[in-house]
Amino acid sequence: GAIESQEFSLLYHPIFDAKTREIVAVEALLRCHNPGLAGYGPDKFIPAAESTGLIKELDEWVFENAIKDFSAVRETTGFTGQLAINISGLELLDERFPQKIKHIADKYKLPTSVLDLEVTETALVPDNPIVIKVLNELRHEGFSLSLDDFGTGYTSFNQLILYPADTLKIDRSFTNDLFSDDKSRSNVVQTIHELARIYKLRVIAEGVDTEEQLSYLQKLGCDWIQGYYLSPPIAKNEFISLINKVNKT
Ligand code: C2E
Ligand code: MG
Ligand code: MG
Repeated sequence: GAIESQEFSLLYHPIFDAKTREIVAVEALLRCHNPGLAGYGPDKFIPAAESTGLIKELDEWVFENAIKDFSAVRETTGFTGQLAINISGLELLDERFPQKIKHIADKYKLPTSVLDLEVTETALVPDNPIVIKVLNELRHEGFSLSLDDFGTGYTSFNQLILYPADTLKIDRSFTNDLFSDDKSRSNVVQTIHELARIYKLRVIAEGVDTEEQLSYLQKLGCDWIQGYYLSPPIAKNEFISLINKVNKT
């Protein structure tokens, strides 16, 4: 119903290069303005949509609108970075998914190489041949793949080799615990960073809230940064203004 009554919208969360602090990518985040969902974010209503089978329609709405918006952003600003879209783990069980999303990219004349698909680590079903096949086909079509909320799931070393990922997104709970007295928590970021280096993956730290966290992550060699310290999620037009302000080229 919320789709028909146009109660969904998208916000855009900029992702910055840790060194230059220019915007290098942006993540689309879904919001629902239905009064019945007041106070509930996507972390609550997406799992509900997944368990009721409504997620496909919702995902499709997100792909169509995020790609349409992004194509406009590129035209107005000349932005060459990536658009990251969160996808439900259920899409990875659908062999038609790669062609479906490719079709939308083609419709808005967007090269697949500027699209990054974020899958939460917990959504990956280990050893499922369909999941691996769909991930490989997405890669083959030129999309890049990120493992979201990395560190919260159970990916083992040998699974990490199986998944054709380009990027690990360190979960924001680990960024929060960077300076925790509990060494078993504060060391996680460093460990994930090391793992990414071994597998030649890009690292994005989520939930960067302070300058202290940012400079620590930059020194560690973390590639990209996302968090309220540099920008909260913003509307498309604000994102356009921010690119014009922050990016020199
Ligand atoms: P996620 O993809 O890991 O997104 C990061 C979440 O952390 C976002 O919350 C973002 O607003 C929040 N965040 C990022 N940096 C900071 C920070 O510095 N401080 C604080 N306090 N929060 C920060 P949001 O928008 O509520 O999204 C929650 C989750 O819902 C997302 O986690 C993602 O898994 C899911 N989601 C959001 N949009 C979509 C969508 O369009 N489709 C699907 N399938 N899932 C979505
Ligand atoms: Mg995400
Ligand atoms: Mg995340």
